[in-house]
Amino acid sequence: MRLKVNKALTIAGSDSGGGAGIQSDLKTFQELSVYGMSVITAVTAQNTLGVHGVYPVPLEGIEAQLDAIGHDLQPGAVKTGMLFSKEIIEAAATAVQEFGWINVVVDPVMVAKDGTVLLENNAIQAMKEHLLPLAKIVTPNRMEAEVLIGNTVTSPEDRRQAAVMLWEMGAEIVVMKGGHDENDDMSNDLVYNGSEFYELKGRRVATKNTHGTGCTFSACVTAELAIGKTPKEALLTAKQFIQAAIEYGIEAGSGHGPTNHWA
Ligand code: PLP
Repeated sequence: MRLKVNKALTIAGSDSGGGAGIQSDLKTFQELSVYGMSVITAVTAQNTLGVHGVYPVPLEGIEAQLDAIGHDLQPGAVKTGMLFSKEIIEAAATAVQEFGWINVVVDPVMVAKDGTVLLENNAIQAMKEHLLPLAKIVTPNRMEAEVLIGNTVTSPEDRRQAAVMLWEMGAEIVVMKGGHDENDDMSNDLVYNGSEFYELKGRRVATKNTHGTGCTFSACVTAELAIGKTPKEALLTAKQFIQAAIEYGIEAGSGHGPTNHWA
């Protein structure tokens, strides 16, 4: 019997600890019955305590992975995670355009929780110039939004303004994630699509097991777009998915445990 599947691609870094990056993305795709493909941009030596080393894949190897997928497998949606350098961002943007990939979700990953740099400083401009204009959805946390717009984001008005600025940079839909906000009870995300603002509402969960939260959320959005859901449907589902994944976070290792993909 032949089975037709919805396919999604993640262009991101590997997390040996299995909680973030490529590993979280592929697990999330699988959980949502989407066939997952990957382009690995960098290998990280990592566990729940932190990142012990970052080893970028040579550019030639990244381009070869992009080409291999582009010449055979057409993903219904694509997400980018840890891209590490300007050159890798440019290679990803070139592939998206060359192969006509749609439903691009950009998770502008910059630093790990322990402060390890996952995106070089001189790559920020390339992300704004080459990747954001190709994004269907961009999903920054507060710090990432601040770096991209070059301003602090503290008040609700700042958040709305930042969302508009990121939309003006070319992303069709901006999701300002609320996980790093100062609100004790709620962790709401603000969405702006060029004409309206709306919120993805969620309760804040007191837990240390939040490793890979951002990756899992954007992977879920990507899988839902690959299935054919509208961006709003995809975002609402992803918010529920990540809420449960955090509530039932896994006690693996002695540091920040991963979010739970079976919740
Ligand atoms: N490692 C990789 C490969 C990632 O892509 C990410 C986040 O996107 C992280 C680590 C960071 O995870 P955390 O913020 O939980 O440290």
